[in-house]
Amino acid sequence: MVPPLRNGLLRHATTCLRQHRPKPIPQLSRKTALQRLLSTLAILEQRDGKLNMSSLASISAAQKLGGSIHGFVAGGNVKSVAEEASKVDGLEKVVYVENSDYDRGLPENWAPLLVENINKGGYTHVFAGHSAFGKNLMPRVAALLNVQQISDITEIQSEDTFVRPIYAGNALLTVQTEDSPKLITIRGTAFQAGAVEGGSASVEEGTDPKAPCPTEWVSENLAKSDRPELATAEKVVSGGRGLKSKEEFDRLMPPLADALGAAIGASRAAVDSGFADNSLQVGQTGKNVAPQLYLCAGISGAIQHLAGMKDSKVIAAINKDADAPIFQVADVGLVGDLFDIVPELTEKLQKES
Ligand code: FAD
Repeated sequence: MVPPLRNGLLRHATTCLRQHRPKPIPQLSRKTALQRLLSTLAILEQRDGKLNMSSLASISAAQKLGGSIHGFVAGGNVKSVAEEASKVDGLEKVVYVENSDYDRGLPENWAPLLVENINKGGYTHVFAGHSAFGKNLMPRVAALLNVQQISDITEIQSEDTFVRPIYAGNALLTVQTEDSPKLITIRGTAFQAGAVEGGSASVEEGTDPKAPCPTEWVSENLAKSDRPELATAEKVVSGGRGLKSKEEFDRLMPPLADALGAAIGASRAAVDSGFADNSLQVGQTGKNVAPQLYLCAGISGAIQHLAGMKDSKVIAAINKDADAPIFQVADVGLVGDLFDIVPELTEKLQKES
């Protein structure tokens, strides 16, 4: 039995303890704590002062990862581009380096520039689009930082685990890396590009190492077109070997594309046969597209072609062979002669618009 005095002391001691007990420290979940440590630098491509919309997919990918996201842009007069980019939802800061040496995206110039700014920012992840620029640049940056580079990811499973298609999209590879920073190129069609609105990121000048560049920009030959850009178009009409000749390709495909407001694509067989320019090739060794509508004519649907377009929302195919593999992925199939169907379809679309 506890004596009354001692009982009173005990009660007093308990009260004092309660009064002086330090406030509990809120415990963060592992995920939240980890996300606070994550920081991604998203490389933003620009040309002639305009942001390349497909590189904005890197920001969406970084949002999926969590943590803070900074954008990075470089070139002559890019402060205004950085200010425009600061409106992209999800960005905390946009770092820019103004120097026209970076205008053409020469990777030998860009690699030391990025290394400098990655080291300065202490980023855990660096994302770039899986474009010609990103594919050319990121392996060089990886070599300079002595880390591996992960290409063409379509899914982020965690801060160190990513998924990428292999064998022309017939298998998915899960890649895990302990490297830091993690250098990754993003398949633009797998991550919806963020809108240039709703954000209010700060804009800050980065560091320019002004490293001597062994390569020099000479010139470029661009195929000019008023049509939407193939890789980001909402609608694509594509022609294959079934079109028979360049003359027929040029006679049938542009009017159909114009009637739909679509970009033009082609199979590799059509490109190799000289029907269409190399820049129009869709597929494993061409462009990856994922438009709302992919309408193709005279394309059989080889796996290498499917690898570049099977993520399209609606696939419509015209082919005279009912057993053509393209019909296995098509939402709408027209079995018949394209030389009858395409002109009739174009005429109907022209009348409707
Ligand atoms: P075909 O396979 O010859 O098909 C022509 C189709 O047209 C047939 O289905 C036929 O029934 C139909 N047709 C013919 N006449 C008519 C008509 N009058 N009306 C309606 N239909 C008609 N291919 C790509 O496209 N992109 C790539 O990036 C690519 N990368 C490759 C990479 C590698 C390593 C390799 C090995 C191959 C690659 N290929 C690529 C080539 C691919 O394997 C196919 O050869 C190519 O896609 C076939 O193109 P196609 O469908 O236009 O021609």
